[in-house]
Amino acid sequence: MTLLEIFPSLRSGRVSPRLDTTVWPCRTHYDELGRITVDGVALDDVADRYGTPTYVIGETEIHTRCRSYRAHFPDTEIVYAAKALLTRTIAGLVADEGLGIDVCSAGELAIALSAGVDPRRIILHGSGKPFAELEYAAGAGVGRIVIDSLTEVSLLGAAVDRPQHVLLRLTPDIDVHGHPAVRTGVGDQKFGLALHDETTEEAIRTIIDHPLLDLRGFHCHLGSQIYDPDHYGEAVRRLVARMAEVRHDYGVLLTQLDLGGGHAVAYRAGDAELNLSELADIVDDALDAACARNRFPRPVIAMEPGRGIVARAGVTADRHRHRGRTLLRGR
Ligand SMILES: *Cc1c(COP(=O)(O)O)cnc(C)c1O
Repeated sequence: MTLLEIFPSLRSGRVSPRLDTTVWPCRTHYDELGRITVDGVALDDVADRYGTPTYVIGETEIHTRCRSYRAHFPDTEIVYAAKALLTRTIAGLVADEGLGIDVCSAGELAIALSAGVDPRRIILHGSGKPFAELEYAAGAGVGRIVIDSLTEVSLLGAAVDRPQHVLLRLTPDIDVHGHPAVRTGVGDQKFGLALHDETTEEAIRTIIDHPLLDLRGFHCHLGSQIYDPDHYGEAVRRLVARMAEVRHDYGVLLTQLDLGGGHAVAYRAGDAELNLSELADIVDDALDAACARNRFPRPVIAMEPGRGIVARAGVTADRHRHRGRTLLRGR
């Protein structure tokens, strides 16, 4: 986490610097002693009790974020991408707020299950999932498994012994102009199958022909730190058109469309964030247009924000000596 500001932790009574509301968790204040408090708890007390550095998570911020997503997207399934941060407490907290959980390893799945999250509300994704992981997830009754490659179709086909809902991850080839390391929605990279090619066709056909695999829809994840909501609109247009092709070619109606995560959050004071109201409008308009053009019934949309839920909630408390004084750093 970025260390942005240095704050005196001592009861100096000096005028305190302003806390930037774009990066600190909501409910961060100075108390009457000049100490920073998050959710009513002084970071000095946390540092005294647990030592430093310590990660402090503002729960109110997480609740607020979950509620904001649900309010902006009332008809959309909001699935928390656990790789942003996963502990049992976090898993329980977001599940209580009505979110699903998106896990990308057996370890994350085990944490979510041990927190009591209903497996039907869990989505497993990840590239190159080993057989044992697929078997574990299917056996645990995970709601949906996102298939990433043709190899995974056969592995999962061999791992299941009861019906399993799956999504197929496609790369809609949208360049979000991010850093190459975070552009995952373009072709020729390790995640997902191309929108159109023979391998994709074979994957779709093999899943549809499998007696236990039930193809429910498509999944995509365009990248990280995406500021421009238009990219999601474009993903909707391309993927709904692709869903209509599947209906035409195989007579199978796909009803789910998972748009992944990647919603930009502020890392530094003054950074912009992805505007959720704009995103909601753009996705809605794109769905209307794409469904009308393809005469296709509106799919259920899912979104998988990770950082969008937890990034701002996290603070690193770090004490160090500076010119003979003890300082407490946040963030
Ligand atoms: C990383 C990831 C996310 C979440 O990304 P954020 O940038 O944290 O929102 C969602 N879905 C998938 C498939 C991911 O790999």
